[in-house]
Parts: sequence; structure tokens; C-alpha cells
Amino acid sequence: MNIVILGAPASGKGTQAQLLSEKLKLFHFQTGELSRDLAEKDPRIKKIVDSGKLIPEEEMTMYALDYLKENKSDLKNILFEGFPRFISQYGALEMFLKTKGDDIDAVIALDITEKEAIRRLSARRICENCGEVYNLITSPPPEAGKCGKCGGKLMQRADDKPESIKARFAYYKDNTKKLIDYLDKKGKLLRVDGERPIEVIFEDILERLKKIEND
Ligand code: AMP
Repeated sequence: MNIVILGAPASGKGTQAQLLSEKLKLFHFQTGELSRDLAEKDPRIKKIVDSGKLIPEEEMTMYALDYLKENKSDLKNILFEGFPRFISQYGALEMFLKTKGDDIDAVIALDITEKEAIRRLSARRICENCGEVYNLITSPPPEAGKCGKCGGKLMQRADDKPESIKARFAYYKDNTKKLIDYLDKKGKLLRVDGERPIEVIFEDILERLKKIEND
């Protein structure tokens, strides 16, 4: 089963994607991580990513499809997080999968308000050593400023700073929100309330995916 998870920044898509990929044994494909890796080698991409802007849509499609060809060439059982984000990227991915006899089987959209997203993003901290993610409100580290796993220093992701959060939201509204509305009209979307506890959302998604599989 190939699944796409969509949502505003801080809608919880990373958390749900991780839980789903573990439970359903899916390959978790994150273009945020891919972009941050590319940024380490390319100052132009670093500037885009750090400012909260998006990599040009077709360029990102090329990176994403190349990555899949190299790392998951059977194109089966993938959970897509962060890609597609544009209608054009969705079309390109769908076509790419179809030429290999596969498809996108489900698209999940996590709904949260902008106010809640900003509250969550401002509280997010990441370990600069091991990458463990904390939230000062919902999952704080055992000791302030220090990673509970490796003792590394906690920092704020460059694109979680207030100016970048604003930019990421503007891009979300201009692009991903349009993709969500487009898929909603096509009846292709599982809309999920993302402001409930993590486990409740997770069970809800699992149940709805089961229904799709049984249909
Ligand atoms: P994320 O962690 O998904 O919020 O992604 C972090 C950053 O990676 C974004 O702000 C973009 O700069 C870049 N990025 C990730 N996915 C895409 C995409 N589908 N299209 C364009 N840029 C992307």
C-alpha cells in the first residue's frame, strides 16, 4: 500500500508517519530530510530550506523520483511525507507509480488550525547531535536544553524560527492546501482531525485505512 500524508507544518504528520510506517512496515520517505541532506552540499538549497521557502516544485520532483529509483526501486509500500506538496508533484508521482504498475492507494490530510500549529512549532526543539525531536509543551526533555537520549545540545531548527514559520504557512496555503482541496473534490482524501491525542489520531487512521484495503 502506498500512502501520502499531508498537512500544515506541525500538524503531526511526521509523528503519524513514523507510527504508521512502523506498524504497517512501510518505507518512510521524507522529502524534508532529503532536502536538509541536499542543503548540506548545496548553499543555494540551504538558503531556501533555512528560510522556510520551498524548493522549486519540478526540481524537487526530480530529486524525489531520483531518490526513489535509487533507494526503493520496487515502489511498493511507501509512506510519502512532505512530497507531494503541489498538484503538479502529485500528478508526477501518480504517473511515475502508474508507469510501474503501481498507484497511490490513500491520501491522509491532518487538519489543525494555524494558531495551534504556530504554538507547536515555536516549542519544537531538536538534538543537534542525534536528531531526537522534543516539544517543550507536549514532550519536554528530562533536563532543560539537553537531549535525554545522548546528552546533546537542543536547538531550534532554522526553519522553526518565527519568520520562517510565517513563510512556511504562506507556502502551505498557496500550495499544499490547494492540493488538499483538489483531492477532497476527487473524493480521494481521508480528512483527520489533528488536534486530538496522538494515539487517538493513529487508531482513527488505521481504522480508515483498513476500510480502504477491504473495499
Ligand atoms: P518539511 O520538513 O517537510 O517541512 O520540509 C523542510 C523543507 O524541505 C521545506 O521547507 C522545503 O524547503 C523542502 N521541501 C520538502 N519537501 C518539499 C517539496 N515537496 N517541494 C519543495 N520543497 C520541499
